[in-house]
Amino acid sequence: AIEIQQLNKWYGDHHVLKDITLDIYEGEIMVVCGPSGSGKSTLIRSLNHLEEYQEGQVNVFGQTLSRDRKSDQIIHNTIGMVFQNFNLFPHLTVLENCTLGLTWLRKLPENEANRTAMKLLDRVGIAHLAQRFPGQLSGGQQQRVAISRSLAMEPKIMLFDEPTSALDPEMVKEVLDVMIDLAKTGMTMVCVTHEMQFARQVADRVVFMADGEVVEVGPPDQVLVNPEWDRTREFLQHVL
Ligand code: ATP
Ligand code: MG
Repeated sequence: AIEIQQLNKWYGDHHVLKDITLDIYEGEIMVVCGPSGSGKSTLIRSLNHLEEYQEGQVNVFGQTLSRDRKSDQIIHNTIGMVFQNFNLFPHLTVLENCTLGLTWLRKLPENEANRTAMKLLDRVGIAHLAQRFPGQLSGGQQQRVAISRSLAMEPKIMLFDEPTSALDPEMVKEVLDVMIDLAKTGMTMVCVTHEMQFARQVADRVVFMADGEVVEVGPPDQVLVNPEWDRTREFLQHVL
């Protein structure tokens, strides 16, 4: 689904992505972990042009992304993203947050957009909150709105950047459960997360990054249980 080829990025003279080459297969659940500052966010944000990079290339379903409208279209039509801090529009209701992309970008009539959005809100268990504003919801509920909003655009790939790390512990599960359900539908997912239980249970492969490099990639049983590298082992001792 995504091919990342020799991606390199610098902030000034700080080399933050070092020659990253990685394929993400269709339907695959990939978990990306690694210490703070290792480049996880930068990497996944490079996949949908939220970050520039100086070298390398990203192909999405065989199409090479560049800085043009066609690439923006490919990204809009294929990739959804969920952020740590939800990024909802505070002045719009839950329902309006979810329909905005459909009415503005897709030009769907309002009743159709509402129907699609309500179905998705129902799927994540918050249809009854449709008329509330984000500020009137718990963190876990807000994150489920953000997921519904992304899914409304019918992405083929979903990127998650630490979707549960801003949540109180009791709300983490409700968001992970939604992600687990989504994984079962065959969605291609790239998830930056330190929820190792989730990684063990759901990931097809785990990527461990350190200092801008992909240190280790493999099935969770390999990377999380029998890592090859000391750096991975050290990191795991901190998060497990
Ligand atoms: P975390 O686990 O804390 O989210 P991360 O693995 O996602 O960390 P990134 O946010 O990708 O790490 O950052 C990678 C490196 O790039 C870090 O050293 C960071 O300081 C640096 N960096 C990120 N954004 C900028 C920026 N706008 N300008 C300069 N350096 C930046
Ligand atoms: Mg990050």
